[in-house]
Amino acid sequence: MLQIKLLYELLLCKFLQMLKKGTKLYSILTGSCPKCHEESMYLDKNPYHLGNLYKMHETCSHCNTTYKIEPSFFYGAMYVSYALSIAFGVAFFVISRLFLQTTLLTSFITIAVDLIVCTPLIARLSRNIYINMFIHFDKNWKQNL
Ligand SMILES: [Zn+2]
Repeated sequence: MLQIKLLYELLLCKFLQMLKKGTKLYSILTGSCPKCHEESMYLDKNPYHLGNLYKMHETCSHCNTTYKIEPSFFYGAMYVSYALSIAFGVAFFVISRLFLQTTLLTSFITIAVDLIVCTPLIARLSRNIYINMFIHFDKNWKQNL
């Protein structure tokens, strides 16, 4: 029992270390600039303000990184969005079917409703993941201006 608790604390500690500035996970989860992690890429941080869902700053005010690397850059985030939607759907299915032991129809309805509710979140996360594939964190960004 003590070993399980220690393992849990170790995993939690490792997870919290992955959320620190300087990691891709930090930039993906917070929507901050992938190069310097100093400011949000979005004009409105809340993805559920649907009118501002895709409104982004042109460049980072700290490190001058241009977010839209080329015209229509974020169309590629659609592929990431597809994969994320499937991952969310599988997670909702497992939670409803295995843990809550619902019927197949209820599980299907749960997946549909939850995916609709999570669409803005998935849209933002997929953009964050996509831009982090191309722009990497630079701890010396101040010297490279
Ligand atoms: Zn920046």
